[in-house]
Amino acid sequence: MSNCIFCKILNKEIPSEFIYEDETCFAINDINPKAKKHILVIPKEHIESLNEVENFDLIKKLFEAIKKINKKENITHFKTLINTGSKAGQEVMHLHIHILSD
Ligand code: 5GP
Ligand code: ZN
Repeated sequence: MSNCIFCKILNKEIPSEFIYEDETCFAINDINPKAKKHILVIPKEHIESLNEVENFDLIKKLFEAIKKINKKENITHFKTLINTGSKAGQEVMHLHIHILSD
């Protein structure tokens, strides 16, 4: 998606350090962290939100990535969050999972 921030980050049009990457997804630190550690896990495929997910193998892969990211980042206690829809606080309309840890 040409005007999507996360697609632009994936395509290196906006610089951002990838703290994790595999064939399905990548992870970056949130630009406006709401916890000491605030990571976004983002599928490479542009899918607007959880409402548009049809193949839930993707969600499984994202959570497998979360486990690897947390191991790498020494995160043992954390919250995960998926905002779905602007009325629920979703600002970037490209599916992502927040990892929040103090
Ligand atoms: P949402 O509210 O859509 O669930 O979460 C979007 C998140 O993306 C917010 O926490 C926001 O701070 C973060 N964000 C928005 N733009 C950028 C950006 O350009 N770079 C990074 N690293 N995070 C961003
Ligand atoms: Zn996108």
